[in-house]
Amino acid sequence: MIVPQHRQKEMDLAKLFAGKLLLRHEIPLSEAHFSQALKQEIFRTVSPFSKKHFTLQCNRCGNTAKHLLPRYPCSRCGKAHRYCRKCIAMGRVSTCSMLYEWADQTPHWPIYVNPCSWKGTLTDAQQHAADRIATAIQAEEKELLSWAVCGAGKTEMLFPAITIALQQGKRICLATPRADVVRELKPRIQQAFEEVTVQALYGGSNDKTGSAQLILSTTHQLLRFKQAFHVMIIDEVDAFPYHADPSLSFATKRAVKPSGTTIYLTATPRKQQLKRLRKNNLPHIFVPRRFHGYPLPVPKTKQVINLKRQLKSKQLPKAFLKWLLTREKTQRQILIFVPTINLADHLQKPLTNFLLENNVIQTKQQASAVHASDAEREEKVKAYRNRELFVLVTTTILERGVTFPSVDVVILDAGHQVFDQAAIVQIAGRAGRSPDDPHGEVLLFHDGKTDAMVEAAASIRDMNRRGGFV
Ligand SMILES: [Zn+2]
Ligand SMILES: [Zn+2]
Repeated sequence: MIVPQHRQKEMDLAKLFAGKLLLRHEIPLSEAHFSQALKQEIFRTVSPFSKKHFTLQCNRCGNTAKHLLPRYPCSRCGKAHRYCRKCIAMGRVSTCSMLYEWADQTPHWPIYVNPCSWKGTLTDAQQHAADRIATAIQAEEKELLSWAVCGAGKTEMLFPAITIALQQGKRICLATPRADVVRELKPRIQQAFEEVTVQALYGGSNDKTGSAQLILSTTHQLLRFKQAFHVMIIDEVDAFPYHADPSLSFATKRAVKPSGTTIYLTATPRKQQLKRLRKNNLPHIFVPRRFHGYPLPVPKTKQVINLKRQLKSKQLPKAFLKWLLTREKTQRQILIFVPTINLADHLQKPLTNFLLENNVIQTKQQASAVHASDAEREEKVKAYRNRELFVLVTTTILERGVTFPSVDVVILDAGHQVFDQAAIVQIAGRAGRSPDDPHGEVLLFHDGKTDAMVEAAASIRDMNRRGGFV
C-alpha cells in the first residue's frame, strides 16, 4: 500500500504524540499550528487537576498531598494558581496551564516476523519462566509477577515475550526505577532486537521523544505517558524509589493500555507483593536457580567493635584490612558498599593507599569511589566493568541491576538502615555471577547484627533450598 505523503506524516506524528500527557512547551508546534490542531481535535485538553473526595489531585503524577499543591503568582494572568510541586521537575503543572493529549488516529506499530536476533539458549528453568511470561502477553492477561533470584538471567527470559509482542504489533515498555539499569539494559536489548528501534528514556538521556515501539525507561519518565503501551514490564519492582513513591506506580499503571499486560520482575519481593502471592491474587512464576546452576552465595558476618567511629575517622577496620590480604581468589575484583556518600568519599583515599602499599593494586587509578551525585558515575561503572578499575567503593546505587563477572563483595557498616533485607540480598547477589567464577565471597562488617542481616541470610538459604541445593 502506498501511503500518501501527508498521511505518512500524520502517522509519524501519531507515534510521536499518541499515548502521552504533555505540557504545551513539550509539543514542538507553532502557536498557529497548535491552535489549528486543537480546533481540528487532533489534540485535546486535559485538566491539570481533578477533584477527588474534596481534595485536589494532580492528573500527571496523582499527587493529592495538599502541602505539595501550593499557589504561586502567575506572571501571565496575574492570578494566584495552584501548581504541583511533586512533579515540578518535569515542568510546572498548574491551573493556568493545561495538559494535552493526542486525539487523532492511534499509531500502527510494525508487525515483525522474526525480530529476535539473540542467538543464545535458555536453561530449562529460564525457558519455563519465559514461556509463562510469553503466554501472559499473548493471552493479554492483566498481570504476572516473575520472581527470579539474582543471577537467574531474567533479561534473557524476556526475549521470547518481547518477540511475541512484536509479532503481534504491540508496543512495549521495559521500565525500572533506576537510570543505571536503563543504561545497562539498552545495549543488551538493542543487540537482541537489532531491527527494532529501541529508545532509552532517563533523566540525562539524549533522546527523550519516546516515539519508539520498544522503550526502555525509568519509571519516573513514565509520568509523560498515558495508555501508550500494550505491554509494560517493570524490572526491579521492589527497588527504591518505586516501592516508596506512589506517583511512580500511578504513572506506570496509567502508561499501560486498559487491555494491556503488566509483568513485574523482582528477585526480592516486598511484603505487599508476598501478601498478594500468598492470597493467590497475583499470578506468578518462581525461578529459584541462577542460570549457571550454582547456588547463591550466603553472606558471612564479622562484628567489629566501634565500627561506626572508626569509619567516621577514616580508619579502616583491621578485620577488613586483613581480609583484603587473605582473600581466596586474588584475581576477583572488589566491590565495597558503604551506607553514605560521605563515607564513600572519605574512605577512598586511605583504602587506595593501603591497597597500593600492599600490592593489591599497582596504580592509584585502579581504585575509586562512586555515588548517585558523582558526575563521572557512568564512566566509573564502565571502567569497573572493563576491569580498568579493580576496587570500587559504592553506595547502594550499585546494589542491583548491574553485573560484574567476578567480584568479592563487602558491606562496611551492614547494620545501617539503608541496608534492609532486600538490599542485602541484592548486594550478595552481585557475587558469583559468571559460570567461570560462580562463587564470590560476601562479607558483612557490622557492629551488631540486625534483623535485616539475619532475614537476608535466611531468605538466601531458603532460595537455595528451593533451587534444589541442600
Ligand atoms: Zn503532579
Ligand atoms: Zn495564570
